Amino acid sequence: MTNELIKNLRNSLHGKLVLPTDAEYDTVRKVYNGMIDKRPGMIAQCTDVQDVINSLNFAKENNILLAVRGGGHNAGGLGIADDALVIDLSPMKEIKVDTASKTVKVQGGCLLKERDAATHEVGMTVPAGIFGTTGVAGLTLGGGLGYMTRQYGLSIDNLLEAEVVLANGNQVKASAKENTDLFWALRGGGGNFGIVVSFLFKLCPAHTVYGGPMLWPVSDTKEMLTWYHNFISKAPDNVYGFFATLTVPPVAPFPEHLHLKKMCGVVWCYTGDMDEAEEVFKPIRAVKTPALDFVGPIPVPALQTLFDGLYPPGLLWYWKADYVKDLPEAAIDVHVKYGNELPTPLSSMHMYPVNGAASRVGKNETAWNYRDANYAVVIVGIDPDQSNKDKIINWARDYWNAHRPHSAGGAYINFMMDEGEDRIKATYGDNYKKLAEIKAKYDPNNLFRVNQNIKPQKAAAGAIA
Ligand SMILES: Cc1cc2nc3c(=O)[nH]c(=O)nc-3n(C[C@H](O)[C@H](O)[C@H](O)COP(=O)(O)OP(=O)(O)OC[C@H]3O[C@@H](n4cnc5c(N)ncnc54)[C@H](O)[C@@H]3O)c2cc1C
Repeated sequence: MTNELIKNLRNSLHGKLVLPTDAEYDTVRKVYNGMIDKRPGMIAQCTDVQDVINSLNFAKENNILLAVRGGGHNAGGLGIADDALVIDLSPMKEIKVDTASKTVKVQGGCLLKERDAATHEVGMTVPAGIFGTTGVAGLTLGGGLGYMTRQYGLSIDNLLEAEVVLANGNQVKASAKENTDLFWALRGGGGNFGIVVSFLFKLCPAHTVYGGPMLWPVSDTKEMLTWYHNFISKAPDNVYGFFATLTVPPVAPFPEHLHLKKMCGVVWCYTGDMDEAEEVFKPIRAVKTPALDFVGPIPVPALQTLFDGLYPPGLLWYWKADYVKDLPEAAIDVHVKYGNELPTPLSSMHMYPVNGAASRVGKNETAWNYRDANYAVVIVGIDPDQSNKDKIINWARDYWNAHRPHSAGGAYINFMMDEGEDRIKATYGDNYKKLAEIKAKYDPNNLFRVNQNIKPQKAAAGAIA
């Protein structure tokens, strides 16, 4: 790459082009997961759509690997890659709430907490994840699970339109009316089909919910997980709770006698009538007196950022995941065993219910195929210390291997690191063929391949790039 070419790209951008020789390079190339240490060739910090198009064309003309970064939270660090030109959308953060149409339009660099803050002002939300620091873009394109999944569905179930820069450098809209095949593929197919510069979402009513963590000693895992499974399978859509095994952080506001104790628990989010919340939770609290009960009225943005401070960027995260349809006693026993053996205080297992509204969308209506799963299970070994890397990896792998007989086959792509093509195919099931064909139409040369990659299935006659 000549200096002249780099200068041309730099001059064509409104945003900054960061190179390995720049002082800020090591800060800018960092992603959330401290286990990822990649060295891109250049990072284009795009401030507008023209920057995105210019950078994409530059990568193509000079045959440089292209990576696209939204919030930088991807499990496998797929927002960056060695030697790549990174299209970094993080400066693109415009948010427009429209109360008349009950929609919010956000640019591709927004974080969940930024969108939540804007929609909260009008008493609305968009169903999304449980950490405010996660990027709207990557989370949405993979599906988008969170506290509102049972009530309002996945993030993609509330996506109305996306503005996309395609591999050919053109900008198009994808919606139920325009480029409908692209719209179908974007809803679960990840970053395979183009660079989404903005998303238009439907707003859902939710201002203050009744939520927070309720914990029991880890020795109660078998009893509580058995109860939870029966409960959440039949609960009304407005009662959400994900099950977890975890260690109580040794900080306020957690009571000192519980510090560093292994626990099991549920993090709740009830979106129904606040006047009825105490009544709804009476039978839940009566099952077994919780050792810790922080459940109460809480504004949506506060619930959706509850864990942000406990998990700052830069920790080592090793992820394994699976979708699960049922929870037989043998599967519960696996969770009991590995919940008791959490390798480090930050390591955890989360079991996110995906029943309720999310399960009432057809398997083939969007690319997100596991509409008949009941849970997305994620096992994460987490620690700040490099010397504990093997420990967290081994625990997560052993746990996942023991859990495999109970897997529905695939896993949520946003919870996967590098697991290979077979796993990706298993995740998309009978939607994979259609995804590969749409990929061939919109990205026949696989320009967008730093992702859970869907290979184009032979450039179709109608390929447009
Ligand atoms: C702490 C933490 C908590 C999480 N909690 C949840 C949760 O509650 N629910 C949930 O569903 N997921 C959750 N996730 C997973 C999360 O959805 C994925 O990590 C997701 O990939 C993050 O998106 P991002 O934009 O931050 O990531 P990035 O690393 O920036 O990008 C991820 C992928 O998306 C592609 N991409 C990013 N932006 C664009 C764009 N604008 N156009 C096209 N492609 C793009 C990238 O190329 C890459 O392949 C969590 C992750 C973390 C680390």
